[in-house]
Amino acid sequence: MVLKIKSISKNFGGISALTDVSFSIEEGEIFGLIGPNGAGKTTMFNMITNLFPPSSGEITFAGEIITGIKPHLITEKGICRTFQNIRLFPQMSALENVMVGGHSRSKSGVFSSVIRTKAQRNEEARLRGSAIELLELVGLSDGIGTEAENLSYGQQRRLEIARALASKPKLLLLDEPAAGMNETETDDLFDLIKKVQARGITVLIIEHDMPLVMKLCDRILVLNFGKKLAEGTPKDIQNNKAVIEAYLGSE
Ligand code: ATP
Repeated sequence: MVLKIKSISKNFGGISALTDVSFSIEEGEIFGLIGPNGAGKTTMFNMITNLFPPSSGEITFAGEIITGIKPHLITEKGICRTFQNIRLFPQMSALENVMVGGHSRSKSGVFSSVIRTKAQRNEEARLRGSAIELLELVGLSDGIGTEAENLSYGQQRRLEIARALASKPKLLLLDEPAAGMNETETDDLFDLIKKVQARGITVLIIEHDMPLVMKLCDRILVLNFGKKLAEGTPKDIQNNKAVIEAYLGSE
C-alpha cells in the first residue's frame, strides 16, 4: 500500500475535526474521501501534508512514517496537493505557474534573479520541457502564454493539477477539483484524472459531485462528524444505509 492512515485524531480547541480515523490506499488507486460539510475531509489532507500536525495517530507513506515531518519534505517524498480555493500566481503565465511547481522539487535555483550557470540554464530548459508536456496533458497547450487570471475557471482548475504534477508526485491529493465546474468541464476533469492514474500516480480526491465520484473512484471512504462512517467500492457506498441517511440522501 502507498498510504496508511492509522488512528488519526485532530482537535481544534474543543472541536474534534477527526476522531480515530484509519484507512489505507493501494498504489495506483483513485480513492475518494466524501462526507457532509465540516466532516473533516480537508483536515485529513492537512494532516497528510502536515500543514497542521495530528493530535494523535500515525501516517505512513511508501513504507516510511511521515507524521510530523516538514511539508516541503513531504512534497519531496512524493505527495502533492491542490486546494479547495484556486491558488495560482494570477499574473504569471500558465507555463510559469507549472514551472514554479517543478521548481519546488528542483535544487538549482533556476528562479533566482539572473540565470548564470550552464547547470541552471539546463535545469530551466528541463523544467520548461516538462511543463509544456504537462500543459498538453491537461489540455492547455493553447493557453501556455496566457496569464492564469485570464484563463477560464475550468482551465485554472486544470492548471492547478498540472502545477501539482510538476513536482512529480507518487500521490496526488485533489481537494474538490470539480467545484464550480459545468458538465463539460467535469467530463474533461474525469478524463484528466484517469490519465493521471494511467501514469501510475495514486489519487486521493475530496469531492461533492457524487456522479463523478461514483464513476471515478476505485474505493471511497465516508467521513461524518470527523469519524469514519463507511468504506468500500462505489457500489457498497451507494447502498449503505448509514451513508444514505447521513449524506447521499441529501445530495
Ligand atoms: P467541506 O466539505 O465544507 O470543505 P470538510 O469535510 O473539509 O468540509 P474540514 O474543513 O476538515 O471539513 O473541517 C472539519 C471541522 O474542523 C469543522 O468543524 C471546521 O470548522 C474545523 N476546523 C478545520 N480547520 C480548522 C482550524 N484551522 N481551526 C479551527 N477549526 C478548524
